[in-house]
Amino acid sequence: MSVSSPPLTELRSLLTGTLALPGEPGYELATPWNVAVPMTPAAVVAAHDANDVAATVRFANDHGLRVLPQRTGHGAVHMDLDDTLLVHTANLDELQVDPVNRRARIGAGVIWQQVLDATAPHGLAPLVGSAPGVGVVGFLTGGGIGPLTRTYGLASDTVLALEVITGDGRLLRATPTEHADLFWGLRGGKGTLGVVTAVELTLLPLAQVYGGALFFNGTDASGVLHMWREWTQDLPEHANTSIALLQLPDMPGVPAPLAGRLTVSVRFTSTATQIECEQLLAPMRAVADPIIDTLGLLPYAAIGAVHMDPTDPMPVYETSGLLRELAPETVDALLDAAGQGSGSPQFIVELRLMGGALAREPEHASAFCHRDAAYSLLVIGAAVPEIAELVASHNATVQSALAPWLTGGEFPNFGATTGVARMMRVYDEDTRMWLTGLAERHDPKGVLRVGQTVRV
Ligand SMILES: Cc1cc2nc3c(=O)[nH]c(=O)nc-3n(C[C@H](O)[C@H](O)[C@H](O)COP(=O)(O)OP(=O)(O)OC[C@H]3O[C@@H](n4cnc5c(N)ncnc54)[C@H](O)[C@@H]3O)c2cc1C
Repeated sequence: MSVSSPPLTELRSLLTGTLALPGEPGYELATPWNVAVPMTPAAVVAAHDANDVAATVRFANDHGLRVLPQRTGHGAVHMDLDDTLLVHTANLDELQVDPVNRRARIGAGVIWQQVLDATAPHGLAPLVGSAPGVGVVGFLTGGGIGPLTRTYGLASDTVLALEVITGDGRLLRATPTEHADLFWGLRGGKGTLGVVTAVELTLLPLAQVYGGALFFNGTDASGVLHMWREWTQDLPEHANTSIALLQLPDMPGVPAPLAGRLTVSVRFTSTATQIECEQLLAPMRAVADPIIDTLGLLPYAAIGAVHMDPTDPMPVYETSGLLRELAPETVDALLDAAGQGSGSPQFIVELRLMGGALAREPEHASAFCHRDAAYSLLVIGAAVPEIAELVASHNATVQSALAPWLTGGEFPNFGATTGVARMMRVYDEDTRMWLTGLAERHDPKGVLRVGQTVRV
């Protein structure tokens, strides 16, 4: 696309923020956290406020363009962006904490760690995911699964209001009583229905949790995984856990005992007392000698320490799935595909225990589906040219090894891709139909029809 067709300089004059064309300073904001995904939009709009977002969406309506919101690029997906204006939201950085009413108002440019740091002095906290470096809005529009999901439910179930620029360029406020259909659809529908500019949510009285991880040698993977399977069959709701077969590269930041070899990490987070937690964890601690044990009381603001997800940008290829059960045969199949001696090139093959509060319908229904999943699956490898093909084909091997136990569903936030097949996995038929209808009403020209959206 050339600068004059359509005249993007005209949009520039409508903005308080900036617009960068390819090669201009500011265009590099499009580079996502997942650096394996090339993001080459027609222009990058660094929105200053909701008016800038609205102006961009209206301009796109008038000129046959599309609009894609991005904050960190943790959820970047491969797509053709020649006719797309990427709205970078970092400058929508409003963050107000109301400790009396236990609420926060959060701009779309804010990442979770900023909210954790602002709420911790009040002994309050939001429900966050395993990596507090992701954007609040990207996470919430995908439901938001985290280290306390079994205890308190989905993060998006704590949302009280969302402000959104719809595909036809209007600023609307969605709550359970105003634009309730958008309130339903924005919580789970990702960017299908609009560019969210701010959210308001309930904070929980959470200053401290018990959490951390036990790391075992790869040679103990079989015993550890089988014990974890048994152990997770009847854990109380205060207990949250995941297990990961890790093969972390030998690089700065990776503890030496974990670098360059297979290890197994059992993550745990709970709101119960230390004594209760340690009693509950005894069988996992006894299954083999942990090489690292980080379990203990933890300020909730440091919750990122439980999973120790990477923070620096990385090139990754990721797929996800949901399991209806974890049988001993499931564990054997997983170990054959990704355990010791399997030749797996993956960084992480992870199972998270679901259930508990997640499985219950919240007070206000949302477009998030598959609350009944027993476990989630994530397979993540390095998308670097030397091994990209191997990583992708082995990823498919893991998926087919577990196929007998997979539900066919996926959560919106994990393994993001575009396309109809993905949408069929993320949403049930009714939800897809309702989201599509809402998108047609609020975005008749399909301006937001880009990325992981229901209308593809
Ligand atoms: C290391 C890592 C750990 C993760 N851990 C978890 C986890 O524990 N639980 C979990 O649920 N997810 C997790 N995720 C997934 C993450 O929540 C999603 O990728 C989320 O989309 C990231 O949001 P973002 O804004 O940071 O990313 P971006 O790539 O900037 O945005 C991704 C998508 O979110 C939507 N979006 C972003 N901003 C807006 C907006 N203003 N309005 C409307 N839609 C918007 C759009 O669809 C956009 O394409 C993890 C991802 C990574 C890479």
